[in-house]
Amino acid sequence: MCGIVGYTGHREAYPVIIKGLKRLEYRGYDSSGVALLNNGQLKVFRKKGKVAELEESVIGKDLQSHIGIGHTRWATHGEPSDRNAHPHQSQSGELAMIHNGIIENYTQIKQELLSKGYHFKSDTDTEVLLNFIEDIKKNNDCGLEEALRIALKRVVGAYCILLISNDDPDTIIAARKGSPLVIGIGKGEHFLASDASPIIEYTKEVVYVNDYEIAIVRPDELILKNLGNEKQTPFITKLDMELAAIEKGGYDHFMLKEIHEQPEAIFDCLRGRLLTQTGQIKMAGIENNLDAFINAPRIIIVACGTSWHAGLIAEYLIEELCRIPVEVEYASEFRYRNPVIHKGDVIIAISQSGETADTLVALESAKEKGAFIFGVVNAVGSSIARLSHAGAYTHSGPEIGVASTKAFTGQLAVLTMMALKIGYAKGAIKQPRYLQLMQDLEAVPEKVREILQDTSHIQRMAAKYKDATDFLFLGRGYNFPVALEGALKLKEISYIHAEGYPAAEMKHGPIALVDEKLPVVFVATKDSYYQKIVSNVQEIRARKGKVIAVATAGDMVIPGMSDDVMFVPDADEAIAPMLSVIPLQLLSYYTGLAKGLDVDKPRNLAKSVTVE
Ligand code: GLU
Repeated sequence: MCGIVGYTGHREAYPVIIKGLKRLEYRGYDSSGVALLNNGQLKVFRKKGKVAELEESVIGKDLQSHIGIGHTRWATHGEPSDRNAHPHQSQSGELAMIHNGIIENYTQIKQELLSKGYHFKSDTDTEVLLNFIEDIKKNNDCGLEEALRIALKRVVGAYCILLISNDDPDTIIAARKGSPLVIGIGKGEHFLASDASPIIEYTKEVVYVNDYEIAIVRPDELILKNLGNEKQTPFITKLDMELAAIEKGGYDHFMLKEIHEQPEAIFDCLRGRLLTQTGQIKMAGIENNLDAFINAPRIIIVACGTSWHAGLIAEYLIEELCRIPVEVEYASEFRYRNPVIHKGDVIIAISQSGETADTLVALESAKEKGAFIFGVVNAVGSSIARLSHAGAYTHSGPEIGVASTKAFTGQLAVLTMMALKIGYAKGAIKQPRYLQLMQDLEAVPEKVREILQDTSHIQRMAAKYKDATDFLFLGRGYNFPVALEGALKLKEISYIHAEGYPAAEMKHGPIALVDEKLPVVFVATKDSYYQKIVSNVQEIRARKGKVIAVATAGDMVIPGMSDDVMFVPDADEAIAPMLSVIPLQLLSYYTGLAKGLDVDKPRNLAKSVTVE
């Protein structure tokens, strides 16, 4: 994962890099560092912890420079510490490098270098690659660019790297495979970063570097080459993003801001697509490939984390509304299992960042096997978006809080429209239900706004339950994946152990955990499983568990049986998850807050998981 920033141009490099690192901190915050080059002198500053700690540690230091690279780390090889922090310096001290990704064959390369007398100051795979490049440069008496090319041909794994050298005063050399890299083009300056957020305040013109490309970046020049040393034409894209969208805008945390942005984010997702007046759903990616969907023998959904939960809800939606069999797969398992994929199978990949390494690799192999790939992605121009044959963006806006909130409801909005459009075109749902669900979907932003109007009772509940050591989240049908998502959110943000389960399945094991200390959250809105879940609540109460319920406004039964209740407006069960998840997002936010935790940067996590 990790965030990478580079700058070369007429400005002071350090402030540009630090500001950029803060925007990328959601990608990792185990340590951070910068390397600056001034008059052929390389200066490296590194610090364990968040970017603010690095800033403090360099007070009073000479930071003058017009070229530099910076990194915020999510450790894979070696504990979070000053000495494992990037940038790393080569043995000679001439080169500095930052890296996002994992060099899988680093042990073998390290052995070779050790036998040549190299010493290592860190435990990272990154330092190995750096010294490998230096060794090739020395032995072949070639330039840095050539040495890098030779090195990368031997490297197995994923990387985005930026390199500077004290004998080249204004050049950054960059390369990527599997980890993202965007280059911003200014006047007499260039910006490099893992995503566009550090760049947008300076320029809207960017180039997304492709896998196996090397970029040679100087203030007035950007050269792109492939690993065969052939020049590539940079494809310039205009960013459609405003600075305000990536700032906190008066909220204490990005997570809270993003929870509250959901009415607009869902509205933006539906806008221009869900045309209730004419009964149409406009989605070019589906329209142009309608036959592929209608004739699909099956749909496989590939995702990780929260996106996987959105995939599970899509399974209910697509099977019910389209009558197409669906399988939902963890990308990391799917890719290594040698799955059976037939020509004609449709794969839907769901990813907020569009850079999730496991999902990306899973898709590459499925694409080779002839599957049709459809991406449901938030980040425009991301790797998964580019790899897909077609897709639909969620248009949720930048999501910075590490725990996904608005991207999840955006994914559900897109997946619901897809299921409706395909199901109706296939004749699997009749017009009245199709139109009814369209209307229900259109009403979602307003209903989410209603839930968000007063959240003080959820804050009070969080204070009441914050010292619990475990939580159980239960739901049935469409609300089962919502229970899973509620448990995941609570784990991420409050570090309380939580399990999500199908409510009926609890009798086959988890019920043994129930006692008067265990809070059990029921996602129990009015749907076709309602009576069944009422019985499940009774079963927990009979064992003295504390019952917290998400219930439909106006319901008298479930609240009467619960210790605490969070109401959501009534909606069709296919639409309800977009509402029932909101109180659960708030419950985890306020629990993390009550425990004094950093809700935007929970320990050990990072947002965009670009390592396997
Ligand atoms: N593998 C490198 C490390 O552990 C880079 C990890 C990252 O992407 O932050 O330092």
